[in-house]
Amino acid sequence: LQRKAEELGVRLNEVQQQAVQETEGPMLLLASPGSGKTTTLIMRIGYLIEEKSVNPSRIKAVTFSKASAQDMTERFERFFPKLPPVDFSTIHSLAFEVVRHHFFKTQMQFQLIEGVKNQDDIHKKGIIKDIYQGIMKEPLQDDEYEKLATYISFVKNRLIPKEEWRTVSCDVPRAADILEKYEEKKRAHFSKRYIDFDDMLLIANEALAYDKELLQQYQNRYDYVLTDESQDTSLVQHQIIEKLVKPHQNICVVADDDQSIYSWRGADPAYLMTFRDVYKDAMILYMEQNYRSTQDIVSVSNQFIQRNQERYPKKMFTENGTFKPIAFKHLLDHAEQAAFVVQEIQQAPDLKEVAVLFRNNFSALPIIHLLDKAGIPFFMKDADLRFFSHWVVQDIVNIMRLAYADHRVDLLEKVHTKLLGYITKAQMKELHSLPLQGNVFDLLLQNIALKDYQQRLIPEVKKTLQGLRELRPKTAIQRIRLELGYEKALENMCARLGFQMDHLLSILQTLEDIAGDIASIPDFANHLKHLDEELRSAKWKREENAVTLSTFHSAKGLEFDRVYMVDLIQSVIPATNQGKVTNMEEEVRLFYVGMTRARRELTLLSYAKKDGKETKKSEFVQNVEHIIHPPREVPEEQKQRRAKVVKPVFNPNAVRQAEELEAGMTIRHKVFGHGEIQSLEDDAVVIVFPKGRKRLSMSILLEMAL
Ligand code: ATP
Ligand code: MG
Repeated sequence: LQRKAEELGVRLNEVQQQAVQETEGPMLLLASPGSGKTTTLIMRIGYLIEEKSVNPSRIKAVTFSKASAQDMTERFERFFPKLPPVDFSTIHSLAFEVVRHHFFKTQMQFQLIEGVKNQDDIHKKGIIKDIYQGIMKEPLQDDEYEKLATYISFVKNRLIPKEEWRTVSCDVPRAADILEKYEEKKRAHFSKRYIDFDDMLLIANEALAYDKELLQQYQNRYDYVLTDESQDTSLVQHQIIEKLVKPHQNICVVADDDQSIYSWRGADPAYLMTFRDVYKDAMILYMEQNYRSTQDIVSVSNQFIQRNQERYPKKMFTENGTFKPIAFKHLLDHAEQAAFVVQEIQQAPDLKEVAVLFRNNFSALPIIHLLDKAGIPFFMKDADLRFFSHWVVQDIVNIMRLAYADHRVDLLEKVHTKLLGYITKAQMKELHSLPLQGNVFDLLLQNIALKDYQQRLIPEVKKTLQGLRELRPKTAIQRIRLELGYEKALENMCARLGFQMDHLLSILQTLEDIAGDIASIPDFANHLKHLDEELRSAKWKREENAVTLSTFHSAKGLEFDRVYMVDLIQSVIPATNQGKVTNMEEEVRLFYVGMTRARRELTLLSYAKKDGKETKKSEFVQNVEHIIHPPREVPEEQKQRRAKVVKPVFNPNAVRQAEELEAGMTIRHKVFGHGEIQSLEDDAVVIVFPKGRKRLSMSILLEMAL
């Protein structure tokens, strides 16, 4: 075994050896990031086959995303190229098998309504959108749909009974009613049942509970079941696995409770805490030595995660050496951040070993834009980036098209309520009934009864639209936002439907960034198309030498020499919902997952300004900074004076010594307002203010500004 491992460049430590060799009975392997959980699990499978002569088809290895199933398949092939393949699959695909079997036996028909390729097929999203429209009399937008889908997954994965659906919070109004109707709708067809991915789990679980014969069939199929990343399994998933392994209890569960990041979708790591209640004789092993990362990264991450209360106490350490300290970059705005990251990537020796990680997929856009410009290939993990099909982007593009084709009623139809002079549905209907020719606004003005304000505003809209053609796309977007009343319309929609204005504004801002210095609207439209295509193909560039772009969530389990964590600002991470952090400990874990992906180099990036507004550096970054440079103990009397530096008062008695200033400190300048000290030079201080970065003379600063 050890020889085999060493051939692979790994010398298994004692716990790892034990985890590999103790193959019989229940085992929980609870361990820190980079401690070799996945490695050990794969070695264990190899050991079962090679040493215990277990037939690979009797082994079931389950993970929770397609990506990690793929990752494990690859690792297994690399470790054991001569062995026949083992079935690494997602729990959903296992459940699907059971479901198919069950429906076959009961001679019922079913139809999948999620993940279906054919556009014309009945789809979960379509059903939910119809129901929403029926109840709310408003169309359901994509971002709201996502929230509803999350709510539904949560309720189902946690096996929450119908009476309690209403107690689970959801930002979309009437979520429980919508779910109820959705359930009815799926069962409404006499001989056929519609099922989505969550139903797959529920039905499999129920079928195994009630059909003893079916249960036995599956129990007899596998002698060994192993699950990786088990902290992200849900209650219903646990129950399925529990049923499968009941007779032999050969279950090996690998997990790290500190990396549980899917509780919003129903994952339930509490199960790990009660493992022994289910499996009385379970062997529980811990691993705390990290083999992945440098001393700096391991030590800081370990201290960082200690701030959480609800966890198995663990102290991650490493015997690895040091390389570079964790780097911080506080920049002006996200454009500057993207420029910085891309510039660094240009100097990277091996693009495959670089990852840019972020909380939200949208953060990738400015970076993609620049990577594309620089000709650097990138791979977007789970490229679920619907930026270009987002309705806000579509609106802007449609308004621009209307500027060029102002006879097209179909284009006006798409945006008529989002422009100054709000054209109503009834008016649009009338417009449609007219013989269509000439400018749509002239048609409106000449043929349709308009309100006074419409009489006044519509000619303006017509004029401004025509003027757009002469403009650079960036200026055109600004005109659309302000002079055509688009932004005002968004505000109204937010007030009415509870959308997040911030999010919509940042989409507009990103569009402006992309427009950059592009000269004409048609060029801009082509560029958008090009980026969209790049992005779609970026999904498949994995084998190439390409930079990885990924959310923190999708990066779980992976490792890279260099990691850039971007957009680390308050309200992005920790994420807030209406100003509040919903689950602080989970946010901490997510940040921890991000940091622990890096082998050698880790850079944390934040900035001072977003969409023209001041932003705050993520408190997690500050936390990490404090771990590395603990705030100096300042004598009490000085502390009071220090308070004056941080607190915004102009005071002639304020601190006047250069030594009292340090990077990261917030100061208030009389003219420029609040700013954060970025760096100190001999006689100057570089400060990032919301309005820009300033280099101020130290003596003047100390005299005047504090
Ligand atoms: P995560 O929690 O992020 O999924 P993990 O616990 O699954 O991490 P692995 O991905 O299995 O960790 O291993 C991390 C790195 O450490 C890999 O590069 C692996 O090759 C290496 N490694 C694991 N065990 C050892 C060992 N005993 N000696 C040397 N290297 C090891
Ligand atoms: Mg792993």
